[in-house]
Amino acid sequence: MSAVVYPVIEIFESIQGEGTHMGMPAAFIRLAGCNLRCKWCDTANAFDLKNATYLAPSHIVAKIKQKLVVITGGEPTLHDLKPLVAALHERGKYVAVETNGTNPIPEEWGIDWITASPKPGSGYLLACQADELKYVVDDEFTLDCVAYDAVPPGRIFLQVESGRKESAQKAFALVMKNPERGLRLGIQLHKILGVE
Ligand code: SF4
Repeated sequence: MSAVVYPVIEIFESIQGEGTHMGMPAAFIRLAGCNLRCKWCDTANAFDLKNATYLAPSHIVAKIKQKLVVITGGEPTLHDLKPLVAALHERGKYVAVETNGTNPIPEEWGIDWITASPKPGSGYLLACQADELKYVVDDEFTLDCVAYDAVPPGRIFLQVESGRKESAQKAFALVMKNPERGLRLGIQLHKILGVE
């Protein structure tokens, strides 16, 4: 039996409210710990490992019904995800990870979909491969921060910051004024619908 355990903040099911998989039913595994401290972070409860319950992959997998599984945080790549991804694949799950992009992600982890959201706190570092990119449009954000060549066109989302009107207007303008960049406006559908 595997001795690996993961610091789990919560496991819950909802729709994926962001990115390419928006609207799909999903299970979310939120792991503790993060190497950044973004000023608009809405998951600060995941910073402290003391808030976590340590669970083995088999216990985590037993709690999950949905096909799409999103491992998030905090910053989930601080942990070796290979055993957890393998356990999820054994149950036929499709495994996505949401990362701040500061850590390389070994191919041997076998992750099916990587959403990277580079952050100002790391200088928008993108140290991993990605399938889609998300950038939170805060007051400081400019298009100079965007890693255009890292993903195919149409997979870069300019994400509205916590529903702020100024952020929405800025993101809308950037998407509309730069059609050659293949940008998309990113929202949080689950928050708009109130189905978190
Ligand atoms: S990287 Fe994500 S979890 Fe970490 S502080 Fe920033 S927003 Fe919060």
